[in-house]
Amino acid sequence: MHSVVCVKQVPDTSEVGIDPETNTIIREGVPSIINPYDLHGIEAALHLKDEFDGKVTILTMGPPQAEAAIKRALSFGADRGILLSDRAFAGSDTLATSYIITQALKRIIDEERVDIIFCGKQAIDGDTAQVGPGIAARLGWNQLTYVVGINEVNIDNNEVRISRKLESGKEIIKAELPALLTVVKGLNEIRYASLPDMIRGARAEIEVWGEGDLELDESKIGLSGSPTQVGRIFPPPEREGGEIIPGGKEDPKGAARVLAEKLIGKEVIPNK
Ligand SMILES: Cc1cc2nc3c(=O)[nH]c(=O)nc-3n(C[C@H](O)[C@H](O)[C@H](O)COP(=O)(O)OP(=O)(O)OC[C@H]3O[C@@H](n4cnc5c(N)ncnc54)[C@H](O)[C@@H]3O)c2cc1C
Repeated sequence: MHSVVCVKQVPDTSEVGIDPETNTIIREGVPSIINPYDLHGIEAALHLKDEFDGKVTILTMGPPQAEAAIKRALSFGADRGILLSDRAFAGSDTLATSYIITQALKRIIDEERVDIIFCGKQAIDGDTAQVGPGIAARLGWNQLTYVVGINEVNIDNNEVRISRKLESGKEIIKAELPALLTVVKGLNEIRYASLPDMIRGARAEIEVWGEGDLELDESKIGLSGSPTQVGRIFPPPEREGGEIIPGGKEDPKGAARVLAEKLIGKEVIPNK
C-alpha cells in the first residue's frame, strides 16, 4: 500500500495580511504551516501504512522554504519527501499547479505503484478546492471528494469504501483503486510525532525536482501557462462592533424594551 500525500505549505491565515497596493498576500514575517486539511491526509496515509505495512510519500510544490512542511510530514512517520521547486513554476494557477503535480506523480508512479493519492479538501489560502480534482482528472483516476471516513481498504479486491460529507448527511461510496481522495477535518485525529521520527524528519534529505526533472510542456507552467487572471484581491470590510444595551441584569424588562424599540423603530409602552 503506497500513498502519496499532496501537501501545501500555506501562510498561517490567522495572521495573514493583504498588500492593498499589489493585491497580493503579505508573506514576509508570516509563519508558514502545513495546510490543515493536508494534515488529515498525512494521518490517513500513515494509518494505511501501519495497517498494511505500506509506504507514504509526501509531494509539495512551492519555494525552497516549503521543505520545512515536508520535514514536518516526515516527522510524523512518512517515508519519502519530494519538493517541486523551480523559478519556472512561479505564478502557476490551479490549472498549471495540478499539471506540474500530475507530471511529478506520473514519475513516481513509473517508479512504483501508487494506490491512493491524498489531497486536502482545499488550501486555506487559495481556497479553490481545484487541485485535487484537477490531478485526478489528468491521471484519469477515480476521485472521491470531501472524504470524512475511510471505512475499508480491500487490497485483494483493489477497492476502497469511504464516507463523503454532504450538507444533508453522509454518502458511502465504493471505488476501485487507484483513487484520489480529498479529505476534510473530521476524518481522523492527528498523531503526535515521536522523538526519533522528529529527529529523522529534521535530518532528512529532501529530493528537489525542477523543470528539468519532469516531462513538462513549457506552455502549461508558470505565469505564462496560467489562464486565470486575478482582477483584485481584498480583505472583507472590518465589521463594526455591536452595541451593548446596559442594565440587562438589574432591569431585564427595561433592557428588553430598549432592544424592542431599536428593532421596531418606535417607542414601546409597557403593559401595566
Ligand atoms: C494567476 C495566478 C498566479 C499565481 N501565482 C502564485 C505564485 O506565484 N505563488 C504561489 O504560491 N501561488 C500562486 N498562485 C496561487 C496558486 O495557483 C494556488 O495556490 C495553487 O494553484 C493551489 O490552489 P489552491 O491554493 O486553491 O489549492 P486547493 O485546490 O484549494 O488545494 C487542494 C489541495 O490540493 C493540494 N495542493 C494544492 N496546492 C499544492 C501545492 N502547491 N503542493 C502540493 N499540494 C498542493 C493540497 O492537498 C491541498 O489541500 C497563483 C494563482 C493565480 C490564479
